[in-house]
Amino acid sequence: MPTQKLDAIRVFLIPRFSYLMQNSSPRVEDLAEFDRAIKFAVKKICRIPLHGGALPYIYSPITKGGLGIPCVTDEYMLYSIVTVYKSLINTDPRMQNFGIERLKRLVQMWSGLDPTPNICGDYLSHRTPVDLDPMYITKYTYMGNISRYRNAVTNLGKLGLKIDAQFSDTFEISLKVTTLDQKLLNFDKNYKGKIFSCLRNIITENYFVQLTENYPNQGRMMKDVAESKYTNQYVRDGRYINSSSFRFVHRARLNLLPIGGTPMGRHLKIAEKCRRCWKEIETLSHILGQCPSNEGLVTQRHNEVLEQIWESCQKIKRDKNVQILKEPLLKTDYGNFQPDLIKIDEQKKTVVIFDLIISSHIAKAFEIKREKYANLAIFYSNKGYTANVMPIVIGQLGTWTIASEPSLEELGFTSQRQTTVIRKMIFTTLNHSKNIYATHLFLPNIHNLKVIKK
Ligand SMILES: [Zn+2]
Repeated sequence: MPTQKLDAIRVFLIPRFSYLMQNSSPRVEDLAEFDRAIKFAVKKICRIPLHGGALPYIYSPITKGGLGIPCVTDEYMLYSIVTVYKSLINTDPRMQNFGIERLKRLVQMWSGLDPTPNICGDYLSHRTPVDLDPMYITKYTYMGNISRYRNAVTNLGKLGLKIDAQFSDTFEISLKVTTLDQKLLNFDKNYKGKIFSCLRNIITENYFVQLTENYPNQGRMMKDVAESKYTNQYVRDGRYINSSSFRFVHRARLNLLPIGGTPMGRHLKIAEKCRRCWKEIETLSHILGQCPSNEGLVTQRHNEVLEQIWESCQKIKRDKNVQILKEPLLKTDYGNFQPDLIKIDEQKKTVVIFDLIISSHIAKAFEIKREKYANLAIFYSNKGYTANVMPIVIGQLGTWTIASEPSLEELGFTSQRQTTVIRKMIFTTLNHSKNIYATHLFLPNIHNLKVIKK
């Protein structure tokens, strides 16, 4: 399974390497080479194109839709910062004093000035002290952990993360961190145990911001994917997914499939119009939703997802007054309706109309369904019921929406059952979308086959 391979990289390979480099001084070029090798392996496992696939996708957190692979160079920078920070706030006064005196000695050597708290802060943050003579050439000594700290601050600055060290009069350090989206965070001695994970979170979030802002084509779906933790959970545990869907989903979400209407298709000189219907531009949302030649498969996908909800629905015990019907044909004064599910409570006099839709435009899908069943709701309110329309929306590539969760609660699902149903629905949608795509591309076009008359 490709998810197991990713897991092995994330859980065994990188932490083992990180542990080794904590107490050594490796060359940054070697770490970058290791990162390149990891990147190559991950892209091959996930079938992302080696050239052109967005790098921040690999490093973004899993909850936001990325693959959550740690970047070894960044980890090394963080270890360098955290080691010095911890030595300066050590709870043992003798050890703390040792760290501070060593820093003071280095600062005095560097600037030739008296090591006041301000000058120590300037030294760690790469600033020129105010009192320093402009003609004075600063002196450096051997490569120690404090030099590594200073290099790390410079390198993280290139990622858009500014780390500013400040000392109080009693030489208590606090780190002021400015992130890419100009958030200011302050780490004092209370953060001793948490600083590494906090800084690492900031860096991975940074990659997500980069993906959405610097890669408008590849990152355009990522905000939808980041909305719910369920959408991307299979990357973490490898459950509710199969290998072929896993290999399909990354390219599809990054819009890197070789079809007419994408930058990839233009690069490969594929005709822009749909290869089946020749009516519209061949985008992924056209193939997986609107193309008339895939209509049967799209309906099949809808029915199978609905069947999953219905199956779980039947397992729940309910009052005798509450009735749930699947696809009932309702004849009203406003025309005929056939919603996917309807819940009627005769005692409380309430009616809830549920309808499932698998769409690429999630916000639009809610509006369409509410409009479609508005008249049915009016029909029931005229009869004296309180009627409500609750759409259930899933993205074509298995993106789950938080706005659909109240619908599942209304159907009576407990939170545990909800998790299972949502993850099963995501898998079914993804698997069918992959099949529709493969049929669209690789099977002979049945509409163009000529019938031979005898
Ligand atoms: Zn078409």
